[in-house]
Amino acid sequence: MKPVLAPGLYIVATPIGNLGDLSPRASEILSGADVVAVEDSRVTAGLLRHIGVKRPMLPYHDHNADAVRPGLIARMAREAVALVSDAGTPLISDPGYKLVRDARAAGHLVVTIPGPCAAIAALTLAGLPTDRFLFLGFLPSKQHARAEAIAEIASVRATLVLYESGPRLAACLGALAEGLGDREAGVAREITKKFEECVTGTLSALAARYADAPPRGEIVIIVAPPGEAPPASAEEADMALAEALTRLPASKAAGEVAKRLGLDRRELYARAMAMKDRISPSLEGEGL
Ligand code: SAM
Repeated sequence: MKPVLAPGLYIVATPIGNLGDLSPRASEILSGADVVAVEDSRVTAGLLRHIGVKRPMLPYHDHNADAVRPGLIARMAREAVALVSDAGTPLISDPGYKLVRDARAAGHLVVTIPGPCAAIAALTLAGLPTDRFLFLGFLPSKQHARAEAIAEIASVRATLVLYESGPRLAACLGALAEGLGDREAGVAREITKKFEECVTGTLSALAARYADAPPRGEIVIIVAPPGEAPPASAEEADMALAEALTRLPASKAAGEVAKRLGLDRRELYARAMAMKDRISPSLEGEGL
């Protein structure tokens, strides 16, 4: 029997390879939806066949979304509209955010049914820090635009997550090595499928590995955050202190430089007082 769903928009994540990853809740929502907005009806038909249901499908993709969206928004007032992409989580490098935006603006129910996402799955495979990450989707394919996009995020202190295709993989890894330095990275391929693998190494080693043998299948690149900056030298600390002392009393100058360079405030205060003594030996300490 078809489950009865409240009218609204249901964002349904679907498998990125292994059909066993479709959640029971995703399956229930797809079975009960009045209409399923799909990227490619042949792909979603296969998924619906797998769970043994037939639902009306409506194509919703980059080329028709603006034209189709108002009709879908109107239907959400009285029908359950499910949104899926060909694989993974809708809206993540896939269409859908404007549909959600407009559904919310119209006051419709918006529900998400979370599940597989290649970016998150790859992060769990690569063995690189996961506490802060930046998802970049696909970088531009043209060399200059790609270098610019890489330069823009070179100083970001986070693990980077990118989608890429096999034929462009080596060039992309090379451009990342050039723009970011030779960081540790991982190439996760065909996640949840028969030939799933995650190869790790430096960006330049990975670029060399794939240069002559572009891999088949779907790919996520994970890049480690930049290394810790080396601690400031005594010379750098003195220069920063001398500059700060032209504007601030010793205790404040020490505090400012300690914060900026990650050094000990008490030691810096002692140095600042010694500096002041050298300039004017009669000055008394201000106390921390
Ligand atoms: N919305 C999807 C998600 O949640 O991951 C991503 C859609 S994006 C158009 C497709 C890209 O995701 C592929 O080109 C590939 O970079 C990555 N991808 C999707 N499935 C994958 C898989 N099984 N293994 C590795 N990467 C995958």
